[in-house]
Formats: sequence, C-alpha cells, structure tokens
Amino acid sequence: MSRFMSKKYASLVPYTPGEQPKERKYLKLNTNESPFPPSEKAIEYASEAAKSLQLYSDPECTPLHSAFAKMCGVSEDMVLATNGSDEILNFAFMAFCDAETPAVFADITYGFYKVFADINNLPSRIIPLGDDFTIKITDYFDAKGTIFIANPNAPTGIALSRDEIEQIIIHNPENVVVIDEAYVDFGGESCIPLLNKYDNLLVTQTFSKSRSMAGARLGFGIGSPSLMADLKTVKYSTNPYNINSMTMAAGVGQLLDDEYTRKNCLTIAENREFLTKELEKLGFTVLPSKTNFVFAKSDKMEGGELYRKLRERGILVRHFTSERISAFNRITVGTREQMETLLLAINEILDKEV
Ligand code: PMP
Repeated sequence: MSRFMSKKYASLVPYTPGEQPKERKYLKLNTNESPFPPSEKAIEYASEAAKSLQLYSDPECTPLHSAFAKMCGVSEDMVLATNGSDEILNFAFMAFCDAETPAVFADITYGFYKVFADINNLPSRIIPLGDDFTIKITDYFDAKGTIFIANPNAPTGIALSRDEIEQIIIHNPENVVVIDEAYVDFGGESCIPLLNKYDNLLVTQTFSKSRSMAGARLGFGIGSPSLMADLKTVKYSTNPYNINSMTMAAGVGQLLDDEYTRKNCLTIAENREFLTKELEKLGFTVLPSKTNFVFAKSDKMEGGELYRKLRERGILVRHFTSERISAFNRITVGTREQMETLLLAINEILDKEV
C-alpha cells in the first residue's frame, strides 16, 4: 500500500475474482461462465455499434431498457441496466443501507456482499446458513436491515422458492429485500412476478451466465419506479455512461434471440444432472443445485488437494478456504464433453492418489 492510500480503505479486503491464468490453456470451470458463445445477433449488433464509438453511449440505455422491460413484463421505469450485476448490487448497498440500516446476508453467499458493505463503510449482519447449507427464512423475518439474498445461492447452488422469498418480503415491509438472481435461469423461480405486489423488492439479474455475455459486463436491477429512481440517483452520481455502446447493442441482440438462451439453459441443466450423478457414483456429496455449477465434496480427498490436482491437469475449479466450505469445490457446468474430461481427471486422481 502506498503512503497515499486513504485511511478509510487501509484495512479493506477486496473481492478475489476467480483466476484467469494466461500461462497455459485451462479447461475453465471456475467462474461460472457459459461454454456457449453469445448469440449471432449479439455479435452482429455489437460490431455495428463499434462503428460509432467516437460518441458517448446513451446514458438512458433506451432500446436496451425497453427490450429488457418487455421481456420481464414490467414498465421501462422499473428497470436499470448496469455494468454487470456487481454494479447494481453496489448501488443498492449505497442507496439502501446506512449506519442504522445494516446489510443483512448469509455467512456463505456471494463474497462481494461483505466487500460492498465494507467499502461503503456499512455495518453487516451475517446470518449463518443451516447445517445443510439452506437458508432458514424465519431468520430473515423482521431483519431490521436491507436484506441481500442470492437466489439460487452461491456457491451452494441451493434455491428458495418464490413463496419462501415472498414470506421474507412480507415480514420486512419497512426494508428493501434484494434478490440476486444471477443464476435463476438454470432452474430457479424468479421473483419478478412479485414486483407488482411489493415496492420493497429489488431483483438483480445478469447477462454473464445464461446469456453468455460475461465479458460485456451487463446486469440489471428490476423494481418499483421509486426504487429505480433512487438507484438512478446513485448511477448519475458515479458513472452516467456505465454501459458502453457495444454492450448495449449486444444486449439488445441477445434478447432478440431468447430461444437460444433458453436452449442453452436446458442443456446446462441436463449436463448438471449428468455431472451430479457421476460425482455421486464416485463418492461425492453434491448439494442440490439449480444453477450452472455444482458444489461438491469428495469422501476421499480434501477440497484444496482436489483443486490443486485438477489444476495440475489443466482443469480449473473454484475452491474457497473459509472453514465451513473448505471441503468443497465449486465446479461450473459446461458442455457434456467438458464434463466427461473433468470426470476422467477426477477418476484418475482418486484412483492414483487414494
Ligand atoms: N451475484 C452472484 C451470486 C454471482 O455469483 C455473480 C458473479 N460473480 C454476480 C452476482 C455478479 O456477476 P456480474 O457482475 O458478472 O453480473
């Protein structure tokens, strides 16, 4: 750290993104990207937009907001596009938490929540998951803070039903409930249909997973017009041109090809069931996932060791060192071929080393 770093950030522990190593070609199953390219339309629209990069992008994101709102069945003043869903989440921490209104989230969930709370100097109230890694909804009733729930949760992959989330919303009428639906398209139930009933619900979604656009950085907040107005205040006070023109155009193209997205999600869900069954045959415990990843632990090998041995064989998975989950690895579900390569490597590792 330089001697110029502001004291307010001196003890900040930043989020650690999944590795993106360059030294060799890995089978990347560590950051929950899609194995499929963006739709042809997304590529075509982005290329066209590249021709006008001398101009600022549209700060109101008009065509993109309109296309996304239509897909969600809500009005345009109920959506806000951001630079990845990380940005809308950060905006929500900034807009809806303060010294008296802590951020409330699970002990095992998306690691960025703690970082967003810390960088904005906000108190966090952390609620442990149950022993089976599920969220007990009554723990969130009358939470006296802004609730952040990844649904399905990450890295566990376990989902709550829409009815369960609705109970949490009903029991927190004076606070915002943020439901992070980064993985919802792979088998979860979206809370978007609840938006016409509750003005304290904010749903966030991303184009990074089911829509194959992680590199374009595109996310959304969906909520009541008044919540969106607050989030826009934060956006226009930080980065009005937060979506670049190529991403905006690619997003519109991708939405025009929703059938392609849906087909890819079905393939991933099938491959997830295949991978789960095969891992279970090898003695793994696999948590019930509704996402494009599985969270699995071997009965024969410690999580960190399996991670390292797979890495030596050119396969990257995600290992978290925090105590409750260090036995597990989070494995992105890819193509059937990728899953077969992974299973072959795991078989070899367990045969040879155990
Ligand atoms: N929420 C969850 C639960 C995630 O796992 C991720 C991806 N790391 C995000 C949000 C943010 O994704 P992005 O910024 O790429 O939209």
